[in-house]
Amino acid sequence: MDPFEDTLQRLREAFRSGRTLPAEFRAAQLKGLGRFLQEHKQLLQEALAQDLHKSAFESEVSEISISQGEINLALRNLRAWMKDEPVPKNLATQLDSAFIRKEPFGVVLIIAPWNYPLNLSLVPLVGALAAGNCVVLKPSEISKNTEKILVEVLPQYLDRSCFAVVMGGPEETGQLLEHKFDYIFFTGSPQVGKIVMAAAAKHLTPVTLELGGKNPCYVDDNCDAQIVANRVAFFRYFNAGQTCVAPDYVLCSPDMQERLVPALQSAIARFYGEDPRASPDLGRIINEKHFQRLRGLLGCGRVAIGGQSEESDRYIAPTVLVDVQETEPVMQEEIFGPILPIVTVRSLDEAIDFINRREKPLALYAFSNSSQVVRQVLARTSSGGFCGNDGFMHLILASLPFGGVGASGMGSYHGKFSFDTFSHHRACVLRSSRMEKIYSIRYPPYSPRNLRV
Ligand code: NAD
Repeated sequence: MDPFEDTLQRLREAFRSGRTLPAEFRAAQLKGLGRFLQEHKQLLQEALAQDLHKSAFESEVSEISISQGEINLALRNLRAWMKDEPVPKNLATQLDSAFIRKEPFGVVLIIAPWNYPLNLSLVPLVGALAAGNCVVLKPSEISKNTEKILVEVLPQYLDRSCFAVVMGGPEETGQLLEHKFDYIFFTGSPQVGKIVMAAAAKHLTPVTLELGGKNPCYVDDNCDAQIVANRVAFFRYFNAGQTCVAPDYVLCSPDMQERLVPALQSAIARFYGEDPRASPDLGRIINEKHFQRLRGLLGCGRVAIGGQSEESDRYIAPTVLVDVQETEPVMQEEIFGPILPIVTVRSLDEAIDFINRREKPLALYAFSNSSQVVRQVLARTSSGGFCGNDGFMHLILASLPFGGVGASGMGSYHGKFSFDTFSHHRACVLRSSRMEKIYSIRYPPYSPRNLRV
């Protein structure tokens, strides 16, 4: 018995009926999403606190208001985004009408991870609904309190004939992926991204893969160490480091490391107090498996700051590791926790070489008082996104595409990019049935006169 067949059948029929096409329908769904967020803000904050010990502030800025912002932007621009886009014409099409039509794909699947379980479910959903698709949303089973609200409450705010939230872990998702979707939008690890892409290939289904990796953070000698430390610590320890775009490791000279370690110590103490475990602002590790994995990484290099852990509440102290070798596990896998290794390099060239020898990251950061140095790092490397002199500020701008490159993913979204991602861009030419005399010069038998077309 296939648990998803009936749901998918319902959604396919709804899509074929054309119900999702009018702007009014799409706007009503987006408004429903907004009401869901506003009416259940507290419930959502509580669920996020239970899942990740997320503070109300972090829930607000990184989950709720960012989703609401995307809804508002889509509502303001929906009709403009939906409009046919006229394109320049050549001599042969001068008398025609030529345009790009943005069409929904059909029934699309969104698979979300646990680290920002609301944001990474709803922000793609905004794009999919705005573009006029029917949607199956599969939140992460690991952030189970948030998943429960998405499954039980969210559907009350949307047209159920066009939208479904389904539950499940790897096994159920595997079953789901056997079905033919018209588009799959996946956020998660590169390992599972490969499974999703292989399943999509069987049906020739297009995919967006929003994946992870190790995000380098280059710190030049020409920097105010305290300013760098404040910014790096904020973005590294936000959500207890469980952020796909968090700075994963620092690359700097031995000299800068000497200045950076006490500055990081001071930033951590100011942010989370002398006993970070008692801070209401520091998150916890999502589950036992990740806690044990991170505890293992604490054995790499030498602990310069933090290093404590407590299994009973899955606490890992904000940690800085030094004397780390490239070959150690902490430099081989995405850390995804509150641990920051520092790797020393002798020059900017060596740092760039270090970065370029690895998979292309989702994000790359460069700190320097010299804009030339920042621009050199930008010009000589590749990554999904880039920010000079701060953490993931590029991600909060809906006017920038958000996505990876190479092993960190393919495709992008946010703002209008989401609408475009979930739309097929149909190439259209409308020609009059008259003026056959003019058009007949292209027909055989060919002669030099055909070349004039
Ligand atoms: P994950 O890949 O383990 O799981 C993501 C989703 O896939 C979940 O819904 C899960 O149920 C499902 N899944 C897991 N195993 C599966 C399998 N074998 N077959 C089919 N489906 C399966 O990722 P995660 O642990 O939830 O999230 C962490 C990863 O996500 C990190 O690598 C992080 O960098 C990445 N991430 C990327 C972004 C981004 O925007 N690029 C954002 C957040 C997280």
